[in-house]
Amino acid sequence: IKIKITKVDIPVAFASAFEGEIIRRKDMRVEFDGSRVDCVELVQTKEMNEVEDHKITVVGPEVDSFEPGSKHSLAYVVEVAGKKMQPDFEPVIERKFHNYINCIEGVYHTGQRDMFRIRISNDAFAAGFRARHFGEVLYTQVKNEFEAVVDKCQVTVYTDPAECTRIRHEVAIPTFDKRDARLETLTDESVDVYYSCILCQAFSPSHVCVVTPERLGLCGAVSWLDAKATNELDPNGPCQIITKERPIDVNLGSYEDVDEAVKKYSQGALEHVTLYSIMQDPMTSCGCFECICGIEPFSNGVVIANREYAGMTPLGMTFSEMASMTGGGVQTPGFMGHGKHFISSKKFMKAEGGIERIVWMPKELKETVAERLNRTAKELYGIDNFTDMVGDETVATDPEVLVAFLTEHNHPALSMDPMM
Ligand code: SF4
Ligand code: ZN
Repeated sequence: IKIKITKVDIPVAFASAFEGEIIRRKDMRVEFDGSRVDCVELVQTKEMNEVEDHKITVVGPEVDSFEPGSKHSLAYVVEVAGKKMQPDFEPVIERKFHNYINCIEGVYHTGQRDMFRIRISNDAFAAGFRARHFGEVLYTQVKNEFEAVVDKCQVTVYTDPAECTRIRHEVAIPTFDKRDARLETLTDESVDVYYSCILCQAFSPSHVCVVTPERLGLCGAVSWLDAKATNELDPNGPCQIITKERPIDVNLGSYEDVDEAVKKYSQGALEHVTLYSIMQDPMTSCGCFECICGIEPFSNGVVIANREYAGMTPLGMTFSEMASMTGGGVQTPGFMGHGKHFISSKKFMKAEGGIERIVWMPKELKETVAERLNRTAKELYGIDNFTDMVGDETVATDPEVLVAFLTEHNHPALSMDPMM
């Protein structure tokens, strides 16, 4: 018989009431910030004999030795074993970490994968909360919620920066890439159903992501396969099947089925959502988008900024300024949060002409997506090395210089129909 553990063995409270809690800079003891240093959260499936149930290990210094107010690396690897465990379930378990860690009183978590940020408050630290307690929380919650598939679970929490770098680059990123590659063979047309995701309603009560094979959740962590696995693990859970039997306009990606679903899961806040348009009834954004794209009127295109990019964009706004206009579960035509992988999708802003509209991206993001984006541009429009036509911060951070660059490179957006 499996015994359900109801109490989490940590020195602070653990309840969903703390999920929306924000820890301000002045109240924080330490911060782990994946956009600045190597951080990662990962689930790995192991054989039964490789896992010692409830073993919690901390590799590196405890939080006590960190300067108050300082930023650090953090990685936690949750190894699970079970007869019914499948690697397809790993990302689903992983995505719950956001929710588990947010339930800790005095601890705040945002983001996912290798782009999360965690703050521990002064009060939680004073009460005795330490890095090893992440292990306790993850162990207890994974065993509780995934008892159908997880028989044994052990957690290693890394605070040693070199180890965090190693885990991130040698273990986690190859795992994430492998998962993403599995999806590449699927298209929106080739599947019979899409999925809703409402995991983010704790923060954005009316937000619903519609997840399709070619459009992953805006957090970048919930693919169509993940949503499918989530639904299989928990048929009454956050991901529900959306049929696609009654199309209204396939170019916009609008369906009666999708409209009904978003209306239901947003408790009536949303009436119409399209899958492929940034202008007409675009999908809403919560707060955990990997990227935001926004209209750049002078070039007739869109600018994309990613969370890691702290500089200025040609819109005269930084990522955080764009984020303040985009989040909160409301529809904001002209601005849209999305996952990194969506950038190279054939469905990216398809209704407005697709990826040809992309005129600017931070250099690092451009390099990350170049291979896939260039492949899509070649396939859709016969353009070679499309990213060479796309501006970045080394070329321009103001619209006039950008337009001059685009003109010089004969960027296709300049001759497309106006977006507004
Ligand atoms: Fe789900 Fe969307 Fe939140 Fe990702 S951003 S967890 S897909 S609701
Ligand atoms: Zn979210």
